Amino acid sequence: MSNPVENVVIVGTGCAGLTAAIYTARANLNPLVLEGSLPGGQLTTTSEVENFPGFPEGIDGFMLMDNLRKQATKFGTRFEQAQVQSVDFTTMPRKLVCGDRVILARSVIIATGASPRMTGVPGEKELYGGKGVTTCATCDGAFYRRMEVAVIGGGDSAAEEALFLTRFASKVYLVHRRDSLRASKIMADRATSHEKIQCVWDSVPVAVEGVAQGAVSGLRIRNVKSGAESVLPVKGVFVAIGHVPNTAAFATALDVDGNGYFVPTAGSQVQTKVPGVYVAGDCADHVYRQAITAAGMGCQAAIEAERWLAEHGG
Ligand code: NAP
Repeated sequence: MSNPVENVVIVGTGCAGLTAAIYTARANLNPLVLEGSLPGGQLTTTSEVENFPGFPEGIDGFMLMDNLRKQATKFGTRFEQAQVQSVDFTTMPRKLVCGDRVILARSVIIATGASPRMTGVPGEKELYGGKGVTTCATCDGAFYRRMEVAVIGGGDSAAEEALFLTRFASKVYLVHRRDSLRASKIMADRATSHEKIQCVWDSVPVAVEGVAQGAVSGLRIRNVKSGAESVLPVKGVFVAIGHVPNTAAFATALDVDGNGYFVPTAGSQVQTKVPGVYVAGDCADHVYRQAITAAGMGCQAAIEAERWLAEHGG
């Protein structure tokens, strides 16, 4: 028996993928959503989401994603666990290879997100998500009012996170493994001259302390030049050493930039060079990386897919 040809396959269940599912399901396209290793995406690792419009009291990240999933299911979205390993976009229908299974689709929306790069030091994983280790100052900064926090990294993200955190924290340690920031000059100047930011140069994290208590109590660091270790008395650790977009399975078929992010065609945020194939959310956005912007891109991709299928026989 030959495989059925899906109208639209959506890869990923973060804000972008589930929003695309809601829109395509309401358009009677009977979407199939492929769920990967982190159902619900990055928001399920955050505690409270206070900046998603429509929730004046804030909403638990896991609950927000569960709500989106219920909303998508209500209109007929189907979900299946499948990890896409490679694709063939040279033929129609498009082919998605998941282990020994091949899924066929007229249109595809890729919303695979990006994974924050982590340092891997002891305590980081144990205290990640609501216990003091986080990768998003915009999401979690407000929980650290009048507390000392550390940001790890030396790029634009680290500088931006550190500057954002000065609104809440009493002091921000910017821990970088070299003696100058990689960040753009303007961001670096702003960060290094801010009275609340103390740069801790030539230093790498060794461990996040507080595992026994279930909450961050400090960040142990080592000076790479002297070898000396010390503990920063922080309640929050913001890891900002870059993101890794989850695009590897598609990178030979679509355009990606030097960091692996999808590059949409000129004039669009979601269209790719392959007709009927769209990208949405953090896998195609290293600038904004917000739940609401990912949802917006998911909506755009869904509307484009709907129009494309209407023109090409959905
Ligand atoms: P990035 O530029 O790759 O910087 C990553 C930083 O983390 C570097 O300073 C790097 O150190 C450090 N690092 C990497 N691995 C590490 C490890 N294992 N332990 C300790 N430190 C580690 O990443 P990003 O800051 O996320 O920026 C990504 C892109 O987005 C850049 O093009 C950036 O310009 C852009 N961006 C722009 C803005 C803006 O314009 N407002 C804001 C955010 C991001 P080294 O310096 O030693 O390599």
